[in-house]
Amino acid sequence: MGNQPKTTSDSSSPDSSAPQDSLGPQDSLGPQDSLGPQARDAGATWLRPPTLLNRPKRIAILGATGSIGQSTLKVIRHSNATSTRSDGKGGRFQVLGLSGHSQIAQLAADATEFAAKRVVCSDPGGASAWKQQGAMPGSEFQVGPDALSDLASDPRVDIVVAAIVGSAGLPSTLAALTAGKVVALANKETMVVAGHLATALAIQYDARLLPVDSEHNAIFQAMQSGKSSQIRRIVLTASGGPFREKSSPDLESVTPAQALAHPTWKMGAKISIDSATMMNKALEVIEARWLFDLPAEKIEVVVHPQSIVHSFVEFEDGSVIAQLSPPDMQLPIQFALDYPERFTGPARRMDFSTAFGLNFQPPDMDRFPALLLGLEVARKGGTCGAVLNAANEVVVDAFLKGQIRFPQIATTCRQILEHHSFDAQPSLEQLLMIDRWARQETRKCIGI
Ligand code: NAD
Ligand code: MG
Repeated sequence: MGNQPKTTSDSSSPDSSAPQDSLGPQDSLGPQDSLGPQARDAGATWLRPPTLLNRPKRIAILGATGSIGQSTLKVIRHSNATSTRSDGKGGRFQVLGLSGHSQIAQLAADATEFAAKRVVCSDPGGASAWKQQGAMPGSEFQVGPDALSDLASDPRVDIVVAAIVGSAGLPSTLAALTAGKVVALANKETMVVAGHLATALAIQYDARLLPVDSEHNAIFQAMQSGKSSQIRRIVLTASGGPFREKSSPDLESVTPAQALAHPTWKMGAKISIDSATMMNKALEVIEARWLFDLPAEKIEVVVHPQSIVHSFVEFEDGSVIAQLSPPDMQLPIQFALDYPERFTGPARRMDFSTAFGLNFQPPDMDRFPALLLGLEVARKGGTCGAVLNAANEVVVDAFLKGQIRFPQIATTCRQILEHHSFDAQPSLEQLLMIDRWARQETRKCIGI
């Protein structure tokens, strides 16, 4: 956190003292000025278009071995494959660094394919597994969680893709913001735990926070058609998860395998369980509150089982603008990486040649009490997000290990929230302390 605040608007140009390596010149074309008034009225400063560069954007992917990380690499692979250069290079992006926590063979294969300059295994125990992969000439290898923040603030990096799962992603996302990077944010837990600190850092260091989460990305796209000050409300769509039609008694006996089988999205384990409880939508309401700087009262949720309409923005005049596409995370990832440009990409496209329907229904807060909890936490703010997130991470893990029943996920989170000592404006230190407290209390509460 020791960086000096930036005094220029060139947030994505690396430091002039940075090593000028083979990745090319540092030239920027200056701030975007050809965008028209709507695009410039994105509201919050962290949503403004980043500085335009006349060279490929250098990317660090934190959590590269996960679902979002792998989809990001597919977007980059597609850009390379469709570049006009015969050697397959010269796409819009260059992978500067990758991190993974496990799956070291995958990490090594990706580092080799994309000629990553830096590789981080955030698990301190990963060094021996890396050695087994054989030395990778030209790439620097580091282990341990601190190396994530080091990579996120590398002066050569333009965009940090924050794709680590859970609050483990918080320090490196904050480090990227402090270094004034463009952050393509998948790690919603950062905003849930410390949204007020993340946005304050983005303002202070002229960083960008661009949403990757499909609902927030859809809202961001829809916002381009009006003034953010004239938004009446935003409506997040929710698939309803695998248990959308299950009764409360049936939810008592669902298994981790059933909960992991999401009907429309293929995702990591934690977010899949969060989708089944609808805690994912709860976390997304809190994420939206901070990312779009909107009061919780202006954020609603509607169940939409097809996952085609990714969210809505309603403006003051009653116009409702939506973004539609098949459920495929490559599209929102690409939008965040290319913003404000659009290019042909690898994501699936809509097919209007066969009939299909779209349904919407209000969520059932009795069967999915986690959602109600999220709306309450979004309204209350302060330490509530950190407590909810920590408790949820512990109970999701316990559910996956068969230690608790499905309905205990939401009831335990409520119990821990009700017992915590609330602070309306917590510092980072307080948040980290309350995160530890909530994890301990949750473990005690469920007897593990
Ligand atoms: P995942 O479980 O597939 O991947 C997680 C990544 O984080 C992996 O690279 C893993 O090695 C790394 N990781 C795990 N524990 C770590 C730790 N303690 N320290 C550092 N790194 C660690 O998860 P995912 O589905 O890709 O989700 C990543 C983030 O993106 C989550 O915050 C999720 O809510 C969000 N998100 C995911 C999707 C999706 O479609 N998968 C959609 C929207 C948002
Ligand atoms: Mg989402």
